[in-house]
Amino acid sequence: MLLFLVFAFFIFWFTNRLQARENEFTYVSFVNAVKEEQVEQVSITQNKEVPTGVVTIKLKNDESMRTVNVSDVREVEALLDEYHLEYEMANIPQDTWVNTVLMPMLIMLIGVGVIVMLMNRQSGGANAKAMNFGKNRARMSSEKDKKVTFADVAGLKEEKEELEEIVDFLKDPKKYIQVGARIPKGVLLEGPPGTGKTLLAKAVAGEAGVAFFTISGSDFVEMFVGVGASRVRDLFQDAKKNAPCIVFIDEIDAVARRRGSGLGGGHDEREQTLNQLLVEMDGFGVNEGIIVMAATNRKDILDPAILRPGRFDRDVVVGRPDVQGREDILKVHAKNKPLGDDVDLRQIAQTTAGFTGADLENLLNEAAIFAAKENRIFIKQSDIRRSFVKVGIGPEKKSRIVSEKERRITAYHEAGHAILYHVLPDVGPVYSVSIIPTGAAGGYTMPLPEKDEMFNTKGQMLQEITVSLGGRVAEEEVLDDITTGASQDIRQATAIAKSMVTKFGMSDALGLINYDNNNGEVFIGRDFGQTTRGYGEEVAGTIDQEVKRIIDECYTKAKSLLKEYDSVLHACAEQLLEKEKLTRNEFEALFGSKEEPELAEQM
Ligand code: ADP
Ligand code: MG
Ligand code: ZN
Repeated sequence: MLLFLVFAFFIFWFTNRLQARENEFTYVSFVNAVKEEQVEQVSITQNKEVPTGVVTIKLKNDESMRTVNVSDVREVEALLDEYHLEYEMANIPQDTWVNTVLMPMLIMLIGVGVIVMLMNRQSGGANAKAMNFGKNRARMSSEKDKKVTFADVAGLKEEKEELEEIVDFLKDPKKYIQVGARIPKGVLLEGPPGTGKTLLAKAVAGEAGVAFFTISGSDFVEMFVGVGASRVRDLFQDAKKNAPCIVFIDEIDAVARRRGSGLGGGHDEREQTLNQLLVEMDGFGVNEGIIVMAATNRKDILDPAILRPGRFDRDVVVGRPDVQGREDILKVHAKNKPLGDDVDLRQIAQTTAGFTGADLENLLNEAAIFAAKENRIFIKQSDIRRSFVKVGIGPEKKSRIVSEKERRITAYHEAGHAILYHVLPDVGPVYSVSIIPTGAAGGYTMPLPEKDEMFNTKGQMLQEITVSLGGRVAEEEVLDDITTGASQDIRQATAIAKSMVTKFGMSDALGLINYDNNNGEVFIGRDFGQTTRGYGEEVAGTIDQEVKRIIDECYTKAKSLLKEYDSVLHACAEQLLEKEKLTRNEFEALFGSKEEPELAEQM
């Protein structure tokens, strides 16, 4: 609308000008008109450039006014006096100023405005967003718009504890500087999408009451070369002015992908942006009050440069929530949604293994939509059941809904691994056991290798095989049938056994001979015929026999150990079914008090 008005005005002014030009009169015709007494009315306007001026005349048989530019107004005065014509003499008029100064300026401004608008539109929303993100975000803290705090982040207890220190630093940086404490510059939040990384970063800023500057890595992707880098520079400039504050780079993998990987265009741009980011991070001091947080779900593809000390040297893993976490998240999102008496959040939490916070939020939202459609002002359990179908049984999420039977098998499977890690001397200890589904795996048992070992011993390798087989052995305890869940374990056990025989000379039957052709996995033709194998059928048969013998022995060992720890196996599986995830302490408590107390706790 405004644009239209401006345009209309412009056209009006322009045509006016044009008309004035059309009505111009030559000096000679003017003089003739005066001599022939055709002139009815005359006025003279003095120009700034004395003595030039403009004469406006009205002819006797003509309606329109005509103008004549004259080089000397005194000449005109003399002429008019001679013919006794009355005339008005005006000084430099106001509207000359409008025409000569204001209008050109206005036109220029409008022109620039139009060009900027066109550019913005052309480069899509991303650029436009980036162009003013700094100012927008800077307002975030001063404006009292909905502040996110740790209370809004349900579950994620360990993660919040880890970030507590950052919050404290941002609240009172002096306290840390005084004692010479070094606070990390960068914190990398790592975890699957929807687990609350962005939320957590905002909550840190909210808790500390500092400004929150944010940009998403994907914002840089469509930009012109150089724009990303300059955005980064501006971002940090704004941040420095507003310290203490948080700079949050969401989806950092979009810019900080390992250099030299990935295909196609935008490469230079990404590299420039990444370089600028590294320069900025190195550029400010340790305790300047800027904490850079970044989120990714693919830490493995990040450029190692970004993980170097002094950059993102703190790593917070944001995992999928366990049962308790899911219940807490449901509670947070049910706050502004009235629930019917029949809704049991605990029970929903139990049936949503593998759901992220975002999934759960979506679940309740869909339920609310169902309720609203039926003009109810509260959510019923049936709404949730229906939305479950809608959000849960999407094509790729289908596998996420785990049946009770599957959970039970997984619980025993993981308990089997964990117990063997614990009781065998050279492997483990167990850092955590979980039956929360992650991608393809139903659960996981994470060992915590205590020593950095240069080489594996024979005993250790045998124990690794035993642990791998423990999952399957434990499953057999509760199931007569055999599942496919242990295929990965079996492959691993076989690989270890095979290398013991062919590479490390750990089998008496074959002795200290290397039967491994050293090409490893790289050589494609490896399994095609004897020439690449380097040994005959007979030896091949012996290798297979030896591998089988090792696996069988380990299997028997696993079986007998799990029989011995039968009660722990059941207890562990029960606890896993209930809590879904056990920490090291919770797990070790299952073995009773004969265990020594934690070293970590003694300190
Ligand atoms: P990410 O950045 O890890 O992909 P987000 O932080 O964007 O995930 O989370 C998306 C949404 O999911 C949040 O806005 C919030 O509504 C919900 N959510 C995720 N995790 C939690 C949590 N722990 N507590 C409460 N809500 C959560
Ligand atoms: Mg996010
Ligand atoms: Zn397993």
